[in-house]
Amino acid sequence: MNLIDTHAHLEGVNDLKNAIKRAAELGVVAIISVGSDYNSNVWVITESRKYEVEGLRIYPALGLHPWGLDPSKVEETLRFIERNISRAVALGEVGLDYWDKDARKSEDRRELQRKIFRKILSMARRSDKPVSIHSRGAWEDCVEMVIEADVKRAVFHWFSGPNGALKRLLDHGYCVSATPAAAYSKEHRRVIAKVPLENIILETDSPVVYAGEVSEPAHIIKALNAVAEIKGVNAEVVAEETTENAKKIFKIRLDS
Ligand SMILES: [Zn+2]
Repeated sequence: MNLIDTHAHLEGVNDLKNAIKRAAELGVVAIISVGSDYNSNVWVITESRKYEVEGLRIYPALGLHPWGLDPSKVEETLRFIERNISRAVALGEVGLDYWDKDARKSEDRRELQRKIFRKILSMARRSDKPVSIHSRGAWEDCVEMVIEADVKRAVFHWFSGPNGALKRLLDHGYCVSATPAAAYSKEHRRVIAKVPLENIILETDSPVVYAGEVSEPAHIIKALNAVAEIKGVNAEVVAEETTENAKKIFKIRLDS
């Protein structure tokens, strides 16, 4: 069984070397290492691939997460992303979060999030890269902005938004990713139940804590089993389909 963890914050994973080994033993053949700010983007570009092991490749993605934005560093981070875009398979993690504590309080902060997201979507469009999108509390705006930017490949990461926004993104051929939360989160399970397998990929969002447990890429198996259970399909079938989907979206060829 070959699995791809399409969204992990590897710079934050404990004992990364062994965590990668455990993932490889379980059948994880690739991990997309996403960035969220200037420092993590630098790490993704300069360090992430040093952790590759036999049979498991690590692919960089560059992003600017809507949480805790430091307005004084935004321009520098966007310049870094633009300069290094050819070395990344995707732009992520990017997006909007209207439930973020600063965004709740301030329309200016929500506008700053949209301004950054618009710029990154335009980079994605120009460089033909897919985007890995965080959309909590801002599902409709995220979906409409991606459609408006005419981005060709987009993954709505850990999507738990309303059915209307879900329909819009599916109508445009976009994907959602399933995390281990698909085992217990009512909203995430509703989404996974409605999305055809051909629009689903898997991820862990490591080192996010799920039901009290700190995650690592090997926990992709929990996302896999949850999707298989929701869909009533064999886990091998889900693994094969979602891995093919991920290879297509991120244009990765594992045989090379
Ligand atoms: Zn994430």
